[in-house]
Amino acid sequence: MEEGARSCLLQSRSSLEQDIRASYLMDHMISDGVLTGDEEDRIRSKPTRREQAVALLELLLRKDNQAYISFYNALVRESYGDLASLLHNSLPLVSPEAEKSFSDGGTRYVQAVLSEGGVPQRPVVFVSRPALMNRVREKLYRLQKEPGWVTVFGMAGSGKSVLAAEAVRDHALITECFPGGVHWLSIGQLDRSDLLVRIQSLCFRLEQQSQEKDPSSSLHRPPGSLEEAKERLRFLMLRRYPRSLLILDDIWDSSVLKAFDIQCRVLLTTRDRSLADCVSGPKSEVAVESGLEEGQALEILALYVNRKPQRLPEQARSIVRECKGSPLVVSLIGALLREFPDRWAYYLHTLQQKKFKRIRKSSSYDYDALDQAMAASIQVLSEEHRELYIDLTVLEKDVKVPAKVLSVLWDLEPEEVEDVLQDFVNKSLLFRDCHHRPYLYYLHDLQLDFLAEMNRSGLEVGLIHSNQWRLKGPPTSGDEECLYWFRFLTYHMAKANLTQELYSLMFSLDWVRTKAQIMGPAHLINDYLEYSTILDKEVRGHFQEFLSLNGHQLEQRPFPDVVQLALSQPDSSEVYRQALLQAQERATRG
Ligand code: ADP
Repeated sequence: MEEGARSCLLQSRSSLEQDIRASYLMDHMISDGVLTGDEEDRIRSKPTRREQAVALLELLLRKDNQAYISFYNALVRESYGDLASLLHNSLPLVSPEAEKSFSDGGTRYVQAVLSEGGVPQRPVVFVSRPALMNRVREKLYRLQKEPGWVTVFGMAGSGKSVLAAEAVRDHALITECFPGGVHWLSIGQLDRSDLLVRIQSLCFRLEQQSQEKDPSSSLHRPPGSLEEAKERLRFLMLRRYPRSLLILDDIWDSSVLKAFDIQCRVLLTTRDRSLADCVSGPKSEVAVESGLEEGQALEILALYVNRKPQRLPEQARSIVRECKGSPLVVSLIGALLREFPDRWAYYLHTLQQKKFKRIRKSSSYDYDALDQAMAASIQVLSEEHRELYIDLTVLEKDVKVPAKVLSVLWDLEPEEVEDVLQDFVNKSLLFRDCHHRPYLYYLHDLQLDFLAEMNRSGLEVGLIHSNQWRLKGPPTSGDEECLYWFRFLTYHMAKANLTQELYSLMFSLDWVRTKAQIMGPAHLINDYLEYSTILDKEVRGHFQEFLSLNGHQLEQRPFPDVVQLALSQPDSSEVYRQALLQAQERATRG
C-alpha cells in the first residue's frame, strides 16, 4: 500500500475502530478478492465488535492499494459516508500504467502455477520491457510441440532473471505450452555436490506436489548420485510433469547444464552464450541488452521516489546516462533515493567518481552482487585468458577497438586474438559492435571500473614488493617516499590481503627496531592494535608487551640496543627468540 494511503489509515484509525462493523465490510472485501475466507474467519473469531474492527484494520495496513480502495468502497456502500470521506483524499490512483508497474500481473491461475513452481515475484519496482519479453515468449512458444532449450544471455545485472520470470507470467503461454507447470531452479556457481542437493530438492518438490494431487503415488528416498538424480528428474518430467517448463537461473557451467539434458523444456539464463552448445535438442537464444532505454530507467527512478518521470530533477537523466541504464545500478540508486530523497546530486557525483563502494556500503540492499558477479565471471576464465582480460583495463572509456589493437597489446596472432575475444563475448565480459567491419570491441563502463579497481589492488601488491627491499635499513634523511612506506606499508599489505607478508613484517624484530627508530614506538603499538584481528593473538601479545615495557627506552637518543632490551623478555616470547638468534649471530661473527 502506498505511503499516503497507509498514513491516512493510521490517522483515521481510532475513529474507524470506534464505529465500523467489520463483518459488514468484509463481505464486500471478499467479493473484491482482497480478503480471504481464512482471514475473515480469524477476524470473526474475535469476541467483540471493537476487537474485530481493530483486527481488520491491522490486516488492512499490511495489504495493497487495492485493499484500501475496496475498504473505502465498502464503507461507502455500508453508509459510513463520514468515515469514507476521511479516506477519500488519500485514495491511491490506480491508472493502467501504475497498475502495470506495481501489481504482480497475470491471472490467479498464473499466480498459483508460478508460486507453486517457485518462480520469483516481480521486483517491487518494475518496468516492462515489452520487445524483449515478446522475443522470449516467441521462443518459448517454439517449445509447445517439442522439448528444447531457450537461452537468455547478457551481462550481470542486465535483468535476465527478472525477464525470465516475467516471460512466463502469461496465461495463454502457460495453458497452451506448459500445462504441466513452470519449475524454477536457481543455480549460480556450484560444485557437483551442491548441484546434487539442488536436484534432490527439486525432485522432492515435484514428488511432493504430485503426491498432493495423487495420494497413491509414493515419495522416494532422495537420489544418491548425480546420475541417479538425472534419471529421477527425467522420469518425473516425462511421467508426472509432461509439457512443463524448467527454468534454470544463472547457469555458469556446461557440466551443470548436462545434468538437465533429459529431453525436457528448459529456459536458462546465463552470461555465457555458448553454454547450450553442449546439450542436445532444438535451441534458440535471446540477447538481453545491458541497459534499459532512458525512459524505462527514468520510470524506475520515478517509481522509487514516488514521482512522475517528468517531475524528476535534471540529475536523474545524468544518473541514467552515467550507468548506461543498467537495471541493477538504476535500481540501486533508486532504492537509495527512496531513503534519502534529497541526494540526487550526491549520488550522481558518487557515480561519476565511481565510488561504488560508498554507495554499496550505505545501501541495505545486496548490491555487492555486481562486483561479485564480475569477479566470478572472471574467475571462470582460464588463467591465461584471465590475465589477458585484466589487460583490457588499458581501454579508454567509450572507445571501441578492433581486434588488431588487442593483438598488439597481447602480442598474439590475430587469429588467436579472435578466439580469445569470442570467449569473452560469449561470457558477456566484452561487447562486440557488429555494425562495423572489422568488428569493434568494447567494455561496459561498469566492467572497466571493476577492472580498474582490481588492477589497483594488483598494483598495490606490485608496489609493496618493489618497495620492501628499500625498507631494510633506516631511510636517508628527507627521503619522503621511504618515510611514506614505513608509515603505510602495513596498511597497504592489509588492504591487499597480503596477510602472510603482514605477519612476517610485523613479527620481525628488525622491523620493530627500524620503525621505532624512525617513527617512535607509538606508531608501532598502534599498528598492532589496528591489525589485531588479522594477527596471531599470542605473538602479537609478545610484541605489544615488549613495546609497552620498553617504550620509554625506545624514545631515547642515542637509540638503545634493541637486542639487549629484547633479551630481558620471558624466554617463551617470540621477541626473546629472535633476539637470542641475533645475539648468537653477533657472537659467531665476533
Ligand atoms: P541478471 O539476472 O541479469 O543478473 P536480474 O534479473 O537479477 O539481473 O536483475 C538485477 C536487478 O535489476 C534486479 O534485482 C532489479 O532490481 C533490477 N531490474 C532488473 N530488471 C528490472 C525491471 N524490468 N524493472 C525494474 N528493475 C529491474
